[in-house]
Amino acid sequence: MSKQDQYTMTDPRTQYDNDGTHYNDDQPDPALDKKLDPSADHGENTYRGSDRLKGRKALITGGDSGIGRAVAIAFAREGADVVINYLPSEQEDGDKTVAILEEAGVKAKGIAGDIKDEDFCVSLVEEANTFLDGLDILVNNAGKQKFVENIEDITTEQFRTTFETNVFAMFWIIKAAAKHMPPGGSIINSTSIQCYQPSPGLLDYSSTKGAITSFTKSCAKMLIEKGIRVNGVAPGPIWTPIQQSGGQAPSKLPNFGEDTPIGRAGQPAELAPAYLYLASQESSYVTAEILGVTGGKHLP
Ligand code: NAD
Ligand code: MG
Repeated sequence: MSKQDQYTMTDPRTQYDNDGTHYNDDQPDPALDKKLDPSADHGENTYRGSDRLKGRKALITGGDSGIGRAVAIAFAREGADVVINYLPSEQEDGDKTVAILEEAGVKAKGIAGDIKDEDFCVSLVEEANTFLDGLDILVNNAGKQKFVENIEDITTEQFRTTFETNVFAMFWIIKAAAKHMPPGGSIINSTSIQCYQPSPGLLDYSSTKGAITSFTKSCAKMLIEKGIRVNGVAPGPIWTPIQQSGGQAPSKLPNFGEDTPIGRAGQPAELAPAYLYLASQESSYVTAEILGVTGGKHLP
């Protein structure tokens, strides 16, 4: 994979090259960035900030790896103090991300814990609010994705935990966070192309993404009464650990993303500018919107 920056004019079809020769498709859930093979680009070597979030205070779930890590790096280099959340088994990925954020000269902290637990969600928000001395930006990005081909094989436990992780946690975290957020605050939820073009084999996951999209639009209309904007980002196929712990059928990994018009998988670094736009005041007239970053698999 070539590591491109976000600034040089380049043919997007060849900006990154997943070489496709060796894929780790059997990581335990949640998969680690540490073991992601080939590795992903989070902008760590390239992203340049320009004070677009100077002094803001942001909480990002699933910030240890993948899209969340790329968003955290961009926010920190734009001047925001950042708290990330992840599962205890991801401490190493979390520590690595926090170290990159601190290099940007901002305050950063990792808080491990399971967002399927409502009490943890409340304490996460309170701890982040105390550490950051306020909360301006909330990115609900953590997610669970498990590929199961036949409906007979989807357990009730899987169905329930996918909804708890992807939908219930978002509700619990926003409910706890909204009272701390000032007018001008911004909430961004990670939905998916799976909301609009659901694949067989991702029944529970795609359903949660449909729920997140509607939740986002309804919540936007509620929270604008407090001056808070709520939007979503819908990624297409992005090269992250979630794909390597059963998120996709292993047979799909070598050609992952090649069915998009751009013809390749996206990298986490290519998502960060969309989240940044929605977090910053530059998107002041945008709420209840879903921004697709899909390689051309457009939203309806
Ligand atoms: P990722 O594995 O790097 O990130 C997902 C994160 O979710 C994990 O790092 C983990 O910290 C967190 N998480 C999962 N269960 C949790 C729990 N119970 N408690 C706390 N944290 C938990 O993968 P990613 O692709 O960067 O995923 C980020 C978001 O992007 C997810 O919501 C995913 O659905 C969405 N998304 C990804 C793709 C893709 O192709 N990678 C496409 C569309 C949407
Ligand atoms: Mg992770």
